[in-house]
This record gives sequence, C-alpha cells and structure tokens, in this order.
Amino acid sequence: MLDQLDELYRDVILDHFRNPTHVGELPVAQVKVEGANPLCGDELTFHLQMQRGRIHQVRFRGKGCAISQAAASMFATQLEGKTIQEAWRIVDTMKALMQGQDPDDSVDLGDLEALAGVRKFPVRVKCAALSWNVVEQGLKNYSSQ
Ligand code: ZN
Repeated sequence: MLDQLDELYRDVILDHFRNPTHVGELPVAQVKVEGANPLCGDELTFHLQMQRGRIHQVRFRGKGCAISQAAASMFATQLEGKTIQEAWRIVDTMKALMQGQDPDDSVDLGDLEALAGVRKFPVRVKCAALSWNVVEQGLKNYSSQ
C-alpha cells in the first residue's frame, strides 16, 4: 500500500501542487470555463487566450486535493502554445492513459505523464480528469461559436 501511495503522490505531482504554474486569470480570455468534481470537492476555472488558432496563454484558479490542483498546473503547462487540434490530442491521450492504455508516444505529455499512477485509484481519476474535462468543454464551446 505504501508503494502504491508513493506512486500516487509522486514528487513531480507534489511539486506542482506546492508550486503550481499558470495560476491566475486573464483579462482578455476567449475561453472562460469552470467545473467541479463534487465527489472530492475539487473546483477549477480555466482562462484561455486564443491567438491565431493557438492557445496563446493559459491561467487557472482552483481549490481541492493535490491531484486535482497538480493536474491543472501540468495541463496548463502543456496547453500553452498548442493548436486546438494538438490540445484535443493531449485530452484524448490523457483519457486513454486514465483508462489504462499506453500513451501515444507522438504526443508530448510533459509532466502529465506522472499522473499515470493515478489510474489505479478510480476515485482519484476524477480529480485528475477534472482539468481536461473542463478545458474540453470550454474549447468545444469556443469552436462552435
Ligand atoms: Zn480531488
């Protein structure tokens, strides 16, 4: 059990939780979206500034457990500079990873890969997945405008 917990709270996850990147708000954000995971009490709001088909800047605010907040920090880091198409690929890859599949090597997940251990803890998967579920909704709304 200790080994498993070690894997769940890997150093990189704790680093992002203690020192999250991309925290804040964007005054000019084409995508503003929020969501919650009531099972755990996690809440996240994402602001995305879009520029020429790319996600130019990402900021988030949130509260909740270490997994949810670390995932938001990691996800924001990976999203910046990506096209919407590339963002979909990251989202799809993270969903597959959480379902136990091996990640697509051609998709750069950065620190998000550290979340692979979370899939052994079904309750925690919802904490990790809140980030991409929220952003996915925001990008869908944006794309359909
Ligand atoms: Zn949580």
